[in-house]
Amino acid sequence: MESTLRRTWAEINLDALAHNYHALRAKAGPQVKFLGVVKADAYGHGAIQVSKALQELGADYLAVSSIDEAMELRKNDVTMPILILGHTPKEQVGRLIDNHITQAVTCEAKALEYSEEAVRHGGALTVHIKVDSGMSRLGYLCADDHFESGVSGICRACSLPGLRAEGIFTHFAVADEPDMDNIVYTQRQFSLFTKVSAEAEKRLGCRFAIRHCANTGAVACYPETYLDMVRPGLLLYGYGEFAPELGLEPVMTLKTTVSTIKTYEPGTSVSYGRIFTTERRTRMGVVPYGYADGFFRSLSNRCSLMTAQGPAPQRGKICMDMCMIDLTDLPAVDVGDEVEIFGRHSPVEELAKEANTIPYELTCAVSKRVPRVYYKGGREIERELLLRF
Ligand SMILES: *Cc1c(COP(=O)(O)O)cnc(C)c1O
Repeated sequence: MESTLRRTWAEINLDALAHNYHALRAKAGPQVKFLGVVKADAYGHGAIQVSKALQELGADYLAVSSIDEAMELRKNDVTMPILILGHTPKEQVGRLIDNHITQAVTCEAKALEYSEEAVRHGGALTVHIKVDSGMSRLGYLCADDHFESGVSGICRACSLPGLRAEGIFTHFAVADEPDMDNIVYTQRQFSLFTKVSAEAEKRLGCRFAIRHCANTGAVACYPETYLDMVRPGLLLYGYGEFAPELGLEPVMTLKTTVSTIKTYEPGTSVSYGRIFTTERRTRMGVVPYGYADGFFRSLSNRCSLMTAQGPAPQRGKICMDMCMIDLTDLPAVDVGDEVEIFGRHSPVEELAKEANTIPYELTCAVSKRVPRVYYKGGREIERELLLRF
């Protein structure tokens, strides 16, 4: 662990996470519950540490994408409610019940399977009904002509033995897109969702305890969609265009170090494919950060990494385990110096834009050989490396 630390590592600031949590909770108001989305290893930040922090902070719910992610949390002292957003094979229903894990129910076939398995196993499976209001991914289809079949399907699911319908939810497709067309689309999704849940409640003669739909875009832009619970992921980690205006802080800072510096004469080609050739005497640093650590090879020759003296242009093809940065104009940078890939001084949003992607993909891509170092109260409290020793 010590040996890998001066290679490439991710600093996870749990104080920033707490700050973001409190800011979002204050924005949502005291009547609204808070679900933190911690799927995909908490967007690369470490699901166990992030979930434990959210549990301590008093969050109401967590969401993951699979039973494996849920069990990882249960095996590591996370006792608070967990919702699985994605598919769980019916053979696993007993484990869901035994471990108090909530499952999304997305269609009639799944409702019937889960009910049958729950009855066979004994006990009740807590479920949240997923409404497809326009994302066209998972959920009961309810738009236009599907309204009647959607609502009656939802009511049948809620009445099945072995299922306890605690919640109903939907997911927005464009809540983070500010143009008029997408605002109208989001409002239509929301209005359909509230119509579906109200009609189902009327027919069932009871209320869903938790109606929720507000992801990051909706938390930032549509307070009317908070209902009983908000469900942000990205904002909690302090990224995206809305984070600065909400005063949120990035939780991850990804760092590497200058391992070697060499000076090349003009006309020297650098790295695989020879896509970069020096035009002057060039002081070139090698940093141990490559595509196997989560860098995107498509960024080759078109991004910079931040040194203490300023940005150093990346040169040549990015390799599996390392890449080269131009230090010619940064003479004070030396072997052993820290380089920030993204974080406080070098926003992940800028690198994401260069890579033609979104911040989500960059933090999720940080690979298992990159140690995570956790900070709380300004002090390092834990290190984790996910290799099999
Ligand atoms: C991933 C996910 C979220 C969180 O999305 P953000 O944009 O990160 O806030 C919320 N709900 C569902 C269903 C998701 O899959």
